[in-house]
Amino acid sequence: MKRILIAGGAGFLGSHLCDRFMKEGYKVIAMDNLVTGNIRNIEHLFKHPNFEYYHHDITKFVHVPGPLDYILHFASPASPIDYLKMPIQTLKVGSLGTHNLLGLAKEKKSRMLIASTSEVYGDPLVHPQNESYWGNVNPIGPRGVYDEAKRFQEAMTMAYHTFHGLETRIVRIFNTYGPRMRLDDGRALPAFMSQALKGEDITVFGDGSQTRSFCYVDDLIEGIYRLMLSDYHLPVNIGNPNEVSLKEFAEEIQHLIGSHSKIVYQALPQDDPKQRQPDISLAKELLQWQPLVDRSEGLRITLDYFKKELGV
Ligand code: NAD
Repeated sequence: MKRILIAGGAGFLGSHLCDRFMKEGYKVIAMDNLVTGNIRNIEHLFKHPNFEYYHHDITKFVHVPGPLDYILHFASPASPIDYLKMPIQTLKVGSLGTHNLLGLAKEKKSRMLIASTSEVYGDPLVHPQNESYWGNVNPIGPRGVYDEAKRFQEAMTMAYHTFHGLETRIVRIFNTYGPRMRLDDGRALPAFMSQALKGEDITVFGDGSQTRSFCYVDDLIEGIYRLMLSDYHLPVNIGNPNEVSLKEFAEEIQHLIGSHSKIVYQALPQDDPKQRQPDISLAKELLQWQPLVDRSEGLRITLDYFKKELGV
């Protein structure tokens, strides 16, 4: 039976990965320090003999007894609210945390997959973004702590691949949504949904013309699963190319909920990307993968989750 370590396993994406690998018959170890995660995301797995949980900060030396076939690195504050509150921790988890896990992978001869991000493209000058674009990132702006940590993480992972011959995989994740997102993580979707459900004004930054492309979590997890089992070590975009402006998106959520909330506009945060759309040609060809869940269906499922969380 294969054994896998999932760092950040109690987070939004990490917990869905735990579910998926448990379902595939793996022994799963979730490692987390719960800075932004929630033990409730994985508590249903605790009764299972193939599941273990280690409470640990991966910026400290990481030790796991026994063999490990795979390591997934999904530990990092991921939303602007989180990483602006924890700038140094964010830099450390992308750098020291990645180094610690790569060291563990080398010792155990594991294959390691890292969660990179569309943020490595910064405020992109190329549209849509494909993997060969190098990005437009402001290293010293407020978002630099996250973007540069992820760029360093990719560089370090490539160095372990070329220098130590480690088997590595790099997924560049575009905005993903679904159950287990935190309502207060400051991202557009949970913010719009909770404001509309509470009858508060829906706050859109800028004039709302900036675009995002939202991928439903099940589609992302499928893409990651296929990439991990592939033999491709260079970065691969996984996301949904269906692009929408934030103004249209707020209206979509307003209609879905049947809310009478007003849409109000606030100042655009510094370095907010103006456009975001993945070019997924590589994932299609390499992994025979493409997103299957359309936004209206994904939003309905996510809304049910948020309603339960809010008790409405
Ligand atoms: P999340 O905050 O829900 O999950 C991150 C998890 O990592 C949390 O459980 C947190 O407690 C844990 N963590 C943070 N620092 C840690 C440390 N030092 N030691 C151990 N655990 C630590 O966020 P998420 O949305 O699930 O993101 C997971 C990964 O995917 C992150 O690396 C993020 O950068 C990446 N990503 C996510 C998205 C997205 O749309 N959700 C997009 C691009 C990239």
